[in-house]
Amino acid sequence: RKAQIGVTGLAVMGRNLARNFARNGYTVAVHNRTYGRTRELVEQFGGEGDFVPAASSEEFVAALERPRRVLVMVKAGAPTDAVIEEFAALLEPGDVIIDGGNAHFEDTRRREAALRERGLHFVGAGVSGGEEGALHGPSIMPGGPPESYESLGPMLERIAARAPDGTPCTAHVGPDGAGHFVKMVHNGIEYADMQLIAEAYQLLRDVAGYSPAEIADIFGRWNEGRLESYLIEITAEVLRHTDAATGRPFVDVVADRAEQKGTGRWTVQTALGLGTPVPGIAEAVFARSLSGHAELRAAAAALPGPQTRDGGGRMAPDEAAAFAERVERSLYASKIISYAQGWDMMRAGSEEYGWHLDLSATAAIWRAGCIIRAGFLDRIRGAFTNDPWLPSLLADPAFAKELGEAQQAWRDVVAAAAAGGVPAPGMAGALAYYDALRSDRLPAALLQGQRDFFGAHTYQRTDREGTFHTLWAEDRSEVRA
Ligand code: NDP
Repeated sequence: RKAQIGVTGLAVMGRNLARNFARNGYTVAVHNRTYGRTRELVEQFGGEGDFVPAASSEEFVAALERPRRVLVMVKAGAPTDAVIEEFAALLEPGDVIIDGGNAHFEDTRRREAALRERGLHFVGAGVSGGEEGALHGPSIMPGGPPESYESLGPMLERIAARAPDGTPCTAHVGPDGAGHFVKMVHNGIEYADMQLIAEAYQLLRDVAGYSPAEIADIFGRWNEGRLESYLIEITAEVLRHTDAATGRPFVDVVADRAEQKGTGRWTVQTALGLGTPVPGIAEAVFARSLSGHAELRAAAAALPGPQTRDGGGRMAPDEAAAFAERVERSLYASKIISYAQGWDMMRAGSEEYGWHLDLSATAAIWRAGCIIRAGFLDRIRGAFTNDPWLPSLLADPAFAKELGEAQQAWRDVVAAAAAGGVPAPGMAGALAYYDALRSDRLPAALLQGQRDFFGAHTYQRTDREGTFHTLWAEDRSEVRA
């Protein structure tokens, strides 16, 4: 018997993906640098399906049917390069190497180009959903040559999560690095969404005066409405959890330093290069890094905050409930803005790299399996299905209507955050983005004047074609540049 797929790298992700393939009836060759992990997998889970353990890379390659499909699930970066090289040397033209790790899309582009020269198909596949998703159904975002999807696609469709309408949460995203690019943007959106949820929590706690358990109930209710999502659901769980050792709310015993593995930072760096404004994602990345700067926080700890009303404390119940309602609107509106920025970025990446991304399909494959999974994604899918050329999610009639309905509450919440001394960079930044885009005139006109003044950078006029410069140091007359 030959294996239809091989998985190399059997830490949590690789092991669970291998089990997922086996549980779905595939014969799976398994391999790991350290053989102990391979043995352990077969000992513990051998009964779940048909595994072919391989002690060496040669044995592993020999166990695979042709064209061979090798899924690499090792540490991102240099280890991935080393493992790809090890297998590329043993494979034959037409075989497929899939990198399911968290590679930077530029690395994936480089690897794809190099392997294409050697006649091999290289598929950089974003995989989201963590350990549990890998086992029970992740969202999978494969890039690479379209031909590779012909044989690989049906297998991925079998192991992927399913959207509520039954469609598998995977699709060929686009050529070369498109899959890893889209996965990167997914993570950027995830950062922004988490930051907004965290701000909503802090507002409910510090402005309204709710306890973590009460906020858990509020999130639980929100999870039954338009905010319904995996992230809101787990937020309620985390807030409801009590620390066993101290009996205090878990959220009060965890150090308030948010860590990051880097995909949010990549998203922002890439957006800067593409010239696409993604302030919601950037604020989220910066909020995490700010939280970790103990020395900066200590240096500023004595600075005064606002004089709180009645010395702070709880709002009256009716007032608090009304405030929570406004926070829900603010969170929802800010969420639309963050997702809009993520989709702008995918469009920009698609144009830059010639990927022809299907913006509706991306939303479709994030409906289940991944961290940002939510009914909301189906609405985004619908918006881009109705109009593939939609210039921004903000222009979709249904989202525009909701933003309009939310905007007054949103302003009230951002004002309450400022008045209460609660940092809400995500919500405030999202509102600023909304106001900037809908503005008739931006102060960018003044910026152009400044630039022309100090650097003769020229400007255009609203009333005439052409490029102009004012002779600021002379008689301030205008000349054509
Ligand atoms: P790790 O990222 O911790 O990587 C460990 C695996 O890499 C082990 O199998 C290890 O082998 C192997 N490895 C490391 N260096 C080398 C090397 N030089 N040569 C050969 N093998 C090597 O494992 P995870 O399962 O957490 O993640 C796998 C990939 O999936 C990563 O790229 C990660 O970013 C990505 N990912 C992870 C998610 C998660 O939730 N953890 C979610 C989505 C993607 P050995 O046993 O011999 O040490």
